[in-house]
Amino acid sequence: MVIPAGGDEPGRLTEDELVAELRLLLAEDAPGVVLGPGDDAALVELGDRQGVLTTDLMVEGVHFLRETVTAADLGYKALVVNVSDVAAMGGSPRFALVSLGLPSDVEAPWVVELYGGLRAAAAEYATAIVGGDTSRADRIVISIAVVGEVMPGGAILRSGATPGDAVVVTGSLGASAGGLVLSRADAHVVAQAVSDGWGRELLDAHFRPTARVGEGQTLAGRGATAMMDVSDGLSLDLSRLCRESGVGAIVHLTEVPVAAGLTQLADVAPVDPVRLALEGGEDYELLATMPVDRVAGATDLLSERFGTALTVIGEVREGEGLVARDRDGAELPLEPRGWDHFGR
Ligand SMILES: [Mg+2]
Repeated sequence: MVIPAGGDEPGRLTEDELVAELRLLLAEDAPGVVLGPGDDAALVELGDRQGVLTTDLMVEGVHFLRETVTAADLGYKALVVNVSDVAAMGGSPRFALVSLGLPSDVEAPWVVELYGGLRAAAAEYATAIVGGDTSRADRIVISIAVVGEVMPGGAILRSGATPGDAVVVTGSLGASAGGLVLSRADAHVVAQAVSDGWGRELLDAHFRPTARVGEGQTLAGRGATAMMDVSDGLSLDLSRLCRESGVGAIVHLTEVPVAAGLTQLADVAPVDPVRLALEGGEDYELLATMPVDRVAGATDLLSERFGTALTVIGEVREGEGLVARDRDGAELPLEPRGWDHFGR
């Protein structure tokens, strides 16, 4: 399939529209398939467990620029984003396959460094890299597939949110987008931000993200009704979760956990911290819904086990669409804006 590039010509698809088309093509029931395309990962029957299958593609010039990221960071992040999708189902990552497209000007040390990052992430998340493929290509392409596992019935899908549920998010949001902005600032601004401390946190969030594996399993066992990871921005990802569940949601803007460091970043770069938190993407925090009376228990457990915060940012409502409530209590439509791989 050819995706038209650029402009507003008819036939141009957003990522969500493309996925919807592909889901129609793949809608047939196949033996052993518990859940097909459209969630963070697929679920298949594998003996007494269910397999959690996910894959992610990183393309030079679309997802990263070779000049602005080290090969080690790139490898690390490429694996983490897949692990995060397994985490978003409440699963445990087990195995990974890594395929690379490499242009002729990429030298062996760069590939070795990339694998250093891949191996570091694999060790961090107890995931074994068991194979893959390589090919010449006109730009760097990294395709990773991760297989995880979950007990039958234990996976949390995007489709289970119920009106009245609390909308919760782990950690804080916007740090990755803030780190990207900071990484593109003047060298002396970056150096000062790093020496002040806040800059390092933002850069790490962008270049060495964390997948919330333990947190996902804990939320799955403690009442989450729907869950996904925040890869493309809170507003866009929450709109996807709500669409799969056939519900709407209200978000209390004052409750959205804005990452530390964004206030300082706003002093040196033209950014709006709340907007970065709503639309930034690549935070890989978990977005979940759960009955209000389960929130306190889940919050305590996440804090105890992982030192990770859980914040109620809103409520699931009947109907469709997202609404934002501001500081004054006024309600406005919340546009699902974020990272669309074809839309910008
Ligand atoms: Mg995801």
